[in-house]
Amino acid sequence: MINVTQTYLPPLDDYVSKIAPLWDSKWITNNGQLVQQLESRLKEFCQSENFLFCSNGTIALQLALKALEITGEVITTPFSYVATTNAIIWENCKPVFVDIDPITFCIDASKIEDAISSKTQAIMATHVYGLPCDVEKIELVALKHGLKVIYDGAHAFGGMYKDKSLLNYGDISTCSFHATKIFHTVEGGGIVSKDRQVSERLSLLRSFGHVGDDYLSIGINGKNSEFHAAMGLAILPSIHAIIAARKQIFKYYESYLPSDVKRPSFIIKDFQYNYAYHPVIFENEQALLKARTALLTNNISSRRYFYPSLNQLPHTRASRMICPISEDISSRILCLPLYPGLNEEEVQGICKIITSSH
Ligand SMILES: *Cc1c(COP(=O)(O)O)cnc(C)c1O
Repeated sequence: MINVTQTYLPPLDDYVSKIAPLWDSKWITNNGQLVQQLESRLKEFCQSENFLFCSNGTIALQLALKALEITGEVITTPFSYVATTNAIIWENCKPVFVDIDPITFCIDASKIEDAISSKTQAIMATHVYGLPCDVEKIELVALKHGLKVIYDGAHAFGGMYKDKSLLNYGDISTCSFHATKIFHTVEGGGIVSKDRQVSERLSLLRSFGHVGDDYLSIGINGKNSEFHAAMGLAILPSIHAIIAARKQIFKYYESYLPSDVKRPSFIIKDFQYNYAYHPVIFENEQALLKARTALLTNNISSRRYFYPSLNQLPHTRASRMICPISEDISSRILCLPLYPGLNEEEVQGICKIITSSH
């Protein structure tokens, strides 16, 4: 079976040597040494002093909304993982969907202003597949209307835009370190803030709103453990090799897929991609379903990532926001297997199946 993704695991000895000292210290969670070490490495990696490690990428989004005191309407993308929309609704805010750009599949920044109302407080956009949103245009709109900007950077780890980590844009960028992502800590997430005070507030919210005996605000449990941090510390030294291996597989896809197969544009000025996903777009949903079945018959899994368009979820569709581009793309886009270890022949085989069913 070829899965759409395969979790990267470090050499077992590397992981064991990181966790062995815990049997002496017995300190396995609550801001332990490994969590502190991982945070300091990730500060360097993300080029930000304000980096926080947390329990997952979803709680990172919720903490971001809480820390920025967002309570009203949030302009967001309909083309993302369901966690983006859910976080907004979970925090009692209202998602207002703005359709996507037909080239990058990120939110169409030129359509944001039309969706702003007196209740709009923030923009929450996803760097979908790790491709950058139009961060400059979004910043201008946000400044003009006094809105906060939160980026869901769950796919963006390792991507660089204008010589900066893509996680270094907006008021807050979050990321996910789930086992299926490019860099992982089994379960985990990260929050990068522009402002030091916001980061301090996030840190407080992340651990029940208190420091020792000082109870300062409401809070939740968004911490992560030494075992999770150990996984991150064992994997992080290989991140450039992981990205290079993914790039090679990506190249195989480029050489074996017919040239008329459509994909989002991965070539964006001043942008270095992390090769997080390889989606292909079919002519219509029937063609997609046919290809997916043909792949499955050959023991190859693929994923309808992202489907459905988030304005059509059971809990959002009542508000009847229409996003024709996102609805169209989500009905006919499929992510193909991509992970270090997938070999050239396997990619060639996948491409043959796509070619004959396309
Ligand atoms: C994976 C993902 C999340 C959620 O991250 P978890 O760590 O699984 O909670 C949020 N947004 C996007 C776009 C994702 O792909």
